[in-house]
Amino acid sequence: MARKNAIRTIISLECGECKKYQYHSEKNRRNTPDRVTLTKFCPSCRSRREFKEKR
Ligand SMILES: [Zn+2]
Repeated sequence: MARKNAIRTIISLECGECKKYQYHSEKNRRNTPDRVTLTKFCPSCRSRREFKEKR
């Protein structure tokens, strides 16, 4: 078994427009210490929106 480290953490990405839809993803804390913003498809807005990391 590989040793599990705490560098990869699970994050929630919330739609910046409607704030109703969330994606769950994981990120590498060492590579991205700041909040991540991703452009993904939001089914609630029915278009591509910026998803921001929620804490
Ligand atoms: Zn949305």
